[in-house]
Amino acid sequence: MRFFHYICRVNICVMPKTVTLQLSPKQAADEKFYIAQVAQRLGIRQSDIALARVTKRSIDARQRMAKVNLTLEVYIDNEPQPEPLHFDYPTVENTTEVIVVGSGPAGLFASLRLIELGYKPILLERGKSVLSRKHDIAQINRGGNIDPDSNYAFGEGGAGTFSDGKLFTRSKKRGDYNKALQTLVWHGANPAILYEAHPHIGTDKLPRIISNICRTITEHGGKVLFESKVSGFVVKNKRITGVRVGDNTVEGAAVVLATGHSARDIYELLYSSGIAIEAKPFAMGVRIEHPQRLIDSIQYHREERGEWLPAASYSLVNQEAGRGVYSFCMCPGGFIVPAMTDSSQTVVNGMSPSGRNSAFANSGLVTEVRLEDFAHLRAEWGELAGLRYQQQFEELARAHSGLKQVAPAQRVSDFVAGKESKSLPATSYIPGITPSRLDRWMPDAISERLRSGIATFGRRMKGFVTDEAIVVGVESRTSTPVRIPRDNETLMHVEIEGLFPSGEGAGYAGGIISAALDGERVADAVARYCIAHNY
Ligand SMILES: Cc1cc2nc3c(=O)[nH]c(=O)nc-3n(C[C@H](O)[C@H](O)[C@H](O)COP(=O)(O)OP(=O)(O)OC[C@H]3O[C@@H](n4cnc5c(N)ncnc54)[C@H](O)[C@@H]3O)c2cc1C
Repeated sequence: MRFFHYICRVNICVMPKTVTLQLSPKQAADEKFYIAQVAQRLGIRQSDIALARVTKRSIDARQRMAKVNLTLEVYIDNEPQPEPLHFDYPTVENTTEVIVVGSGPAGLFASLRLIELGYKPILLERGKSVLSRKHDIAQINRGGNIDPDSNYAFGEGGAGTFSDGKLFTRSKKRGDYNKALQTLVWHGANPAILYEAHPHIGTDKLPRIISNICRTITEHGGKVLFESKVSGFVVKNKRITGVRVGDNTVEGAAVVLATGHSARDIYELLYSSGIAIEAKPFAMGVRIEHPQRLIDSIQYHREERGEWLPAASYSLVNQEAGRGVYSFCMCPGGFIVPAMTDSSQTVVNGMSPSGRNSAFANSGLVTEVRLEDFAHLRAEWGELAGLRYQQQFEELARAHSGLKQVAPAQRVSDFVAGKESKSLPATSYIPGITPSRLDRWMPDAISERLRSGIATFGRRMKGFVTDEAIVVGVESRTSTPVRIPRDNETLMHVEIEGLFPSGEGAGYAGGIISAALDGERVADAVARYCIAHNY
C-alpha cells in the first residue's frame, strides 16, 4: 500500500485572528509586551487569549531606528486550535529497495520521501558519520591533511551539515517549502525557522538535525551505509540495476544519484562510462570579509547595533560588462572555512553558528562563468571542460597560497585599486591568510568584473570598499559546471532507465532547501517509475 504519510492535523474550521505589530527590537524580544499589545489591538483581555503564535518576523532597517514587523495568529478561548504537525513514517523494512547515492539534503529528503511512499531507501555515503567527520574537519582547520572522503563537502549530511544553514529558496511552491521546514523542525530545528523572514539554523545545530534524519531513515526500515563510496554503475541494455561499492554490487529497483557538485570522480565516471553529461555555465569568484560592526553600522545607520538586533546582512547584485556580479551565501557573524576536497586546491566557503556572534561578516562574491570562457579546454576535456576550468582556478589559488590550507587574500581597497597588500587585517579564517595579488592572477573575466562590481557596491553601501575588509580566494563551488541531463517529466536520466539524477550536483538545485525539494520530487518520480514497472 502506498500513501502519503505526512499528516498535517489542522482543523480546517479554525479561523484565527491575525495581528501585525511594528515594534522596537527590544519590544519584539519581550513576549509579555507584545501579547499585551495584541490583546489591546483586539479589544480583549489577555486572559481571553488561548494561543498566540508568531507566523512572520522581519526586520525593517530602512529608517534610522530599525523596526521589527511581527505577525501573530491569535486564537481566542473556546475557538478550536490547530493541533501540532505530525510526521507518521511507515515501516519499509520488507518493501522494494531503491538506492540513493549521497546523504546531502537531496539524498536525505529523497530517502524520507521514499519511506513516506512505502519504499526502502538504501542510502550510500562515501564519507563518515557526523561524529567522525567532526574530527576530520577540526584537522583541516588546524592545517592538517584533507581526507578526500571526509571534509566540508563529504560525509553524513553532505555539504549541508557544516554549512551555514540559511534556508532560502526561490521555489514558488510554498506548500513544499513549508513541509521541508516542518521536516527540519520535526528533526530538532528551532520552530522559529517557520516564521523568520530569513530562516537560519547555524552550523552548531545542523549536525544533530542531520543525525536525527538518518535515525528516522534507519528506524523505519531504510539503510544508511557510511564509508560506502560508489565507484561504478551496473548498466545493462541502457537500464541501471545497481552500483559498485568496492568489490560489492548493491542492487535496487532504481538509483537516485545525489552526489553533490564536489564529486568530480562521479562526473568523470559517468563521462568515461558513456553516460550523457553536459557542460553548463556556473559562477566563481572570491569570499569577501568585513568586520561585522562595519556592516552593522552601514545597514542599521548607527555606531553599535546594540543588544536586540541581529548581526546585519546584505544582498548585492549588479551587471558588469554584460554579466551578473552578485553576493552569495552571506554569513553575518560567521567564519570563512576551507572547503576543498583534496590537497591540490584552495577553496573557501562561509558559515555561521546559530548565534551569529563572530566579529566578522563574510559573503561569496561571484560572477558568471560562461561556456566561451572554457571553450579552449573543450577539445581535450569535452563536457568536463568547465570542471577542468574550475579545477585550474582552485589550483591557481593553491599555488598562490603557500602552505596547507592557508588562503590567498588582498585588502578590498587594494583589490579595487590594483595594488599589493603589504599586510592583512584580522580574519575569521582559522588556517590563516597570506597577501596575494588576486587582482592579477585570477582570469581577467573574473577579476575585472569583481573589481568593478565591488566598486559599484561601495557606492551603494558607503564603507564597503575599505582597507579593513579582505577578499579571500577562491569561491569556486557555488554551482556545478556540469549537468546530468534528465527528462522534464519522468525526471529520469535522458538515456539510462532507472537512473534519477538529483540535487545540486546534477544541476537541478542550488542550496539546502532547493536540493531537499528536488530530492522529494525525484522520490515521487521514482515511485511512479516503480509502479509503472511493477517493482
Ligand atoms: C560551508 C558551506 C556553507 C553553506 N551554506 C549554505 C547555506 O547557508 N544555505 C544553503 O542553502 N546552502 C548552503 N551551502 C550549500 C549547500 O550545502 C548545498 O547546496 C547542498 O548541500 C547541496 O545538496 P546536495 O544534496 O545536492 O549535495 P551535497 O550536500 O553536496 O551532498 C552530496 C553527498 O554525496 C556524497 N557523495 C559524493 N560522491 C559519492 C560517491 N561516489 N558515493 C557515495 N556518496 C557520494 C558526498 O559525500 C555528500 O555527502 C553551503 C555549503 C558549504 C560547503
